[in-house]
Amino acid sequence: MDCLFCKITAGEIPSTVVYETEDVLAFKDIAPQAPFHVVIVPKQHIPSPAHITAENSDVAGKIILAAAEIAKQEKLENGYRIVANCGEDGGQTVGHLHFHMLAQRNLSWPPG
Ligand code: AMP
Ligand code: ZN
Repeated sequence: MDCLFCKITAGEIPSTVVYETEDVLAFKDIAPQAPFHVVIVPKQHIPSPAHITAENSDVAGKIILAAAEIAKQEKLENGYRIVANCGEDGGQTVGHLHFHMLAQRNLSWPPG
């Protein structure tokens, strides 16, 4: 399958991995929007948040757990933001479910 994040989880495209479990991988975003910016993805190919089902929804909890573990590991004591863009209006550009994790700057709300 021609999917960028499947290629990254398979190690076919290099990435800077910061955290990995059996089910999820977190790696540095190539175009960081904050001093700390990683992308957390399931190793299973799920196209977007809209493709979460009763059968695969456990992965969403695993991604949020990964973020909490990464925050401890990276000592992000001042907090962080996790956000998943979905579809065209959501600003999604890569068709493999991912949560952005941003930290180490004061993030504005609401987002643009
Ligand atoms: P989104 O626009 O929400 O779909 O997020 C896709 C993210 O993937 C963007 O923040 C990109 O900077 C990031 N990205 C694209 N290609 C790579 C890559 N090869 N390695 C790491 N991050 C990437
Ligand atoms: Zn994929």
